[in-house]
Amino acid sequence: MLPVKEAELIILNLADQASGLSDVESVSLPEAAGRILATAVTSDLNFPHWDNSAMDGYAVRYEDVSGAEEHQPALLQLVAEIGAGTQPHVSIKAGQAARILTGAMMPEGADTVIIQEVTKIENNQVVILKAPTSQGEFVRYGGQYYKAGEPLLDAGVVLNAPEIAVLAAVGCHQIPVYRQPKVAILSTGNELVTPEKTLSSGQIFDSNQYALVAAVKNAGGVPVPLGIVKDDPEALKLAISQALETADIVLSTGGVSVGDYDYVEEILSRLRGRIHISSVAVKPGKPLTVATFSKPETAQQVLYFGLPGNPVSTLVTFWRFVQPAIKKIAGLSNNFEPIFLPAITRQDLRSDGKRESYLWGKLIPVKQGFEFELAGGTHASANLINLALTNSLAVVPVGEKLIPAGAEVQVMQIGNG
Ligand code: AMP
Ligand code: MG
Repeated sequence: MLPVKEAELIILNLADQASGLSDVESVSLPEAAGRILATAVTSDLNFPHWDNSAMDGYAVRYEDVSGAEEHQPALLQLVAEIGAGTQPHVSIKAGQAARILTGAMMPEGADTVIIQEVTKIENNQVVILKAPTSQGEFVRYGGQYYKAGEPLLDAGVVLNAPEIAVLAAVGCHQIPVYRQPKVAILSTGNELVTPEKTLSSGQIFDSNQYALVAAVKNAGGVPVPLGIVKDDPEALKLAISQALETADIVLSTGGVSVGDYDYVEEILSRLRGRIHISSVAVKPGKPLTVATFSKPETAQQVLYFGLPGNPVSTLVTFWRFVQPAIKKIAGLSNNFEPIFLPAITRQDLRSDGKRESYLWGKLIPVKQGFEFELAGGTHASANLINLALTNSLAVVPVGEKLIPAGAEVQVMQIGNG
């Protein structure tokens, strides 16, 4: 049984070697959400592109208005109106002002904007009732936020709304992103049927397949659900070898324990897989199996995860070990590892002390940090019912049998970490 940390390191190292997804594709801005940038982006545009007004008001020369006050206003001649999207055709001279709207280009000669709230128009003149606090007030200068040619976004970052806004703002409309890893998903077990079928005695619905489709999507992979395979060595061998051909990563669930029908590890060896991990000191999830396969036609390695069949074990091992690997293979350069936060547990958390235990529940923000609320009901690897609506896993380290209510515990966020 490998300690969790060692298993994690082995997997991340394999993910590095398996990555090989240097293939880059180009997507349009609306398609870019959630994708990972493959090339660093710079722009030849300054941001802002040119000096412009931050407010609706009047573009003026600071020296004309620096002494203005309510009882001694500055009177300026109105010479133009400049709306956003137009090029000003005036040059502001001493004693002059131009009406200017937010985002409009500053006219030549003007260096300051007076907000309209401290002005009035009288006899066709602009009356400035209050001096600006400084020269340049309410002007956004060209290049103030970003200078052309400087690094803008690094390769390996995930493109969410802010990054997409940046790309659009500098006119980058075809975005180089990494190809998303294809993740094949197989369920093994003679007892399994798909949820649209009618259950016969002794059968259960395959839930892992669908749980993993959702989890893979969430992690940035493209799920390739391949259905249910019987606990039959030849059928398994065929299904696994087909999965290895179609995917960058293969996930199977079930068949990795030591029961009479658990064939996965044997088949992996028969297919010349290199088995790196065959059990981890984690609860739930001990029989986690990890192997790699070389694809003869490419330098690429396919990473295989044999996940335990119990539905909670499947998801816990996915979140703890598979999700970081998918993110890394997908090209994410940072933040692929799970996020752990310290929290105060509201209940006693128990473990056998031999394996690193993951207990599911809710991380609740409180005044001073977080508290952890253990999900109610039985904490068993087959009980997926109380896993619903949990958002985190509290970790009881090896060697500890009890973290009492009121003590601090490390809690792993699920879904995004
Ligand atoms: P196994 O690891 O194959 O021994 O399976 C362990 C337990 O998980 C058994 O109770 C199985 O019935 C259950 N199980 C295995 N695969 C699935 C699945 N795809 N969906 C739901 N339960 C499963
Ligand atoms: Mg089974």
